[in-house]
Amino acid sequence: MAATTAATVTAAGTQHVLLRPSFNPNPLRSVIIPRSPFKIPSLSISCTAVRSPPASIATKDRLFNFAAGPATLPESVILKAQADLFNYQGCGMSVMEMSHRGKDFDFIIKKAESDLRSLLSISSDYAVIFLQGGATTLFAALPLNLCSPDDSADYVVTGSWSDKACKEAQKFCKAKTIWSGKPDKYTKIPSFDSLEQNSNAKYLHICSNETIHGVEFKDYPTPLNENSILVADMSSNFCSKPVDVSKFGVIYAGAQKNVGPSGVTIAIVRKDLMGSSQPITPVMLDFKTQADNASLYNTPPCFAIYICGLVFEDLLQQGGLVEVEKKNVKKASILYDAIDGSDGFYVCPVEKSVRSMMNVPFTLKKSELEKKFIEEASLEGMVQLKGHRSVGGVRASIYNAMPLAGVEKLVAFMMDFQARHP
Ligand code: PMP
Repeated sequence: MAATTAATVTAAGTQHVLLRPSFNPNPLRSVIIPRSPFKIPSLSISCTAVRSPPASIATKDRLFNFAAGPATLPESVILKAQADLFNYQGCGMSVMEMSHRGKDFDFIIKKAESDLRSLLSISSDYAVIFLQGGATTLFAALPLNLCSPDDSADYVVTGSWSDKACKEAQKFCKAKTIWSGKPDKYTKIPSFDSLEQNSNAKYLHICSNETIHGVEFKDYPTPLNENSILVADMSSNFCSKPVDVSKFGVIYAGAQKNVGPSGVTIAIVRKDLMGSSQPITPVMLDFKTQADNASLYNTPPCFAIYICGLVFEDLLQQGGLVEVEKKNVKKASILYDAIDGSDGFYVCPVEKSVRSMMNVPFTLKKSELEKKFIEEASLEGMVQLKGHRSVGGVRASIYNAMPLAGVEKLVAFMMDFQARHP
C-alpha cells in the first residue's frame, strides 16, 4: 500500500503532519514540526483516499491497554469498523450519519440484540434495552422502576460500585446495605447464608464484579422473599462467561469494558417487572417506555450500539461464552500465579476464591517501586496499569479483548522487574 501523508499548516505557523502507518510507527500520533522561522502561508492539504492498514500493521502498532474502561476492544472489530466507517456496507454513508429509524440501523440494532440473546441464551421473558447515561444512571433507574418510595431494597456492598449504587438508590426508596466488605477493604464476598436479608425487600442488588477492588461473585445469592428479585451490575464482567439470566430480574452493564465503547448501557429486564415505575421517573429511565420503543424512544447512541454488535458477533465467532471464559480463566491464572509465586514481591489482597477474572489489583511490597513499575511497563508498551485513584497500587484489567500475549508480556515484565529489584 502506498503511504499517504495528510498535512496541515496552521495560521500560527506550527505544522502538524499526520503520517500514515508506513512512515510512522504510531499512526495515531501526529509529529509536531517546530514553528518555522519563515512565514508560512495558511495552507491545508488533506488526503482522504487512505485505505485501511492491513491487520498486521494495526497489531504491531497497538499498545497493550490494561485500562479498566474505556478498555481495549478486539482488533478485528476496530478494523471492521474502520473498513466500514466511510461508507457502511455500500449504503453511501457512515453509521454515525444514518437515521436511527432507517433500515440500515434497524438491521444493526436488531442484530446486536439477537446476537446478545444468543450469547447469553436470553429468553423472550426478558427485554434487552440499549440505554444512555452509563451504569451510574441505572443506579437511579432501578429503584425508580422496581420500587415505590416506601419500599425497601437490599444491597450487598462488596466495593465502591455497589456502595455508589446503594447510595443513589437511597434517594428513591429505602435502600439498605445489608453487608459491607469495607472493614476488610473490600477483599471478600460474604457467605450467602450470613446475609441478613429484609423479608420485604423488593430486590437484592449485587455488583457481580467490582472493577476497582477486583472482587467477583462466582455464584449468586437468592433473594429471601420469593417475590423479590436479584439485580446485578455486571458492567465489568458482562459477557466474560456464561450466566444463567433466569436467576436475575435485572442485569445491567455499561458497555465500555467488555463489549463496546462508552455511551451505551445495556439492561436485560424481566418483562413482568416493567410498567410500574414511580410517577417521577424520567421517561428516559422508564424501562417499559424503552422496551416498548425497542430502545428508540429517542435517538440512541447508534455508533456505540453498532460497535457492541460487532463485538457480540466476534464473541459468537469465538464459539460463544464457554470458549471466551476458557481464555479468560487462562489469562487470569497466569497473572495470579505470577503474583502468588513472587515470594511476596507482588501482593494481591483479594481472597483467592473471589478474585476477579477481569480486574487484577496488586501492590508491590516495596511500595516506593510502584511508580517505577508502572512507568517502565508503559515504556514497554503496556499502559494504564495504575490502580484506581481511590486505592492506588497496580491494576491490570484483562477483559475479553486483552490477548493472551498481553498478559504473558506483563508476567515476563513482572519477573524481570522483580529480578532487577532484589
Ligand atoms: N459499575 C461498575 C462495576 C463500574 O465498573 C462502573 C464504571 N467503572 C460503573 C458502575 C459506572 O459506570 P459508568 O461510568 O458507565 O456510569
